[in-house]
Amino acid sequence: MTDASGPQPGIDYPRTFQEFEAWFGSEATCRAYVQRLRWPEGFTCPACGVAGEPTEMSRGLLRCRTCGRQVSLTAGTIFEGTRKPLRLWFLAMWFVTSQKNGVSALGLQRVLGLGSYETAWTWLHKLRRAMIRPGRDTLHGEVEVDETYVGAPEEGKEGRKAGSKAISQWRPKRMAAASAGSDCAKSATFWPTAC
Ligand SMILES: [Zn+2]
Repeated sequence: MTDASGPQPGIDYPRTFQEFEAWFGSEATCRAYVQRLRWPEGFTCPACGVAGEPTEMSRGLLRCRTCGRQVSLTAGTIFEGTRKPLRLWFLAMWFVTSQKNGVSALGLQRVLGLGSYETAWTWLHKLRRAMIRPGRDTLHGEVEVDETYVGAPEEGKEGRKAGSKAISQWRPKRMAAASAGSDCAKSATFWPTAC
């Protein structure tokens, strides 16, 4: 962490779950983080243009102390309109970005204790879209893909009953650019290189 005001957006990233808990342990710290992200130079009222710390209202609203205009903290972010705590969103972000092998909607639902699979699916897709680097290039040249599992349905067997041959570990060293249009390569562009 760079200073006492909390983790700096775009600079500080929790390396461990303990660090995540220390930085984003409460709704207030998560809200403060989003506020710093939206107004890095400090809150400025979009209505009257006056800078100054706003009053915190209920339902995620900030109120300008000069003109009284209420501004939603999450407007224009992927959290806009959410009824869930920001802390739960932050936990989802931590989980999605810290799992080496990616995360499924079902896995996210289980970890967060979300009531519906649809919510988990929506969250996951919002987060994946948000992780796309703007202006990124398409894959070209030689593309290296980490080891992955390639499976297929096996006749007469369902789910976990499938024989060991159904899932085989695939360890390519290099993949030609000609294959860059495959689903696997496309999904790889979802993720920042740090993942
Ligand atoms: Zn104002």
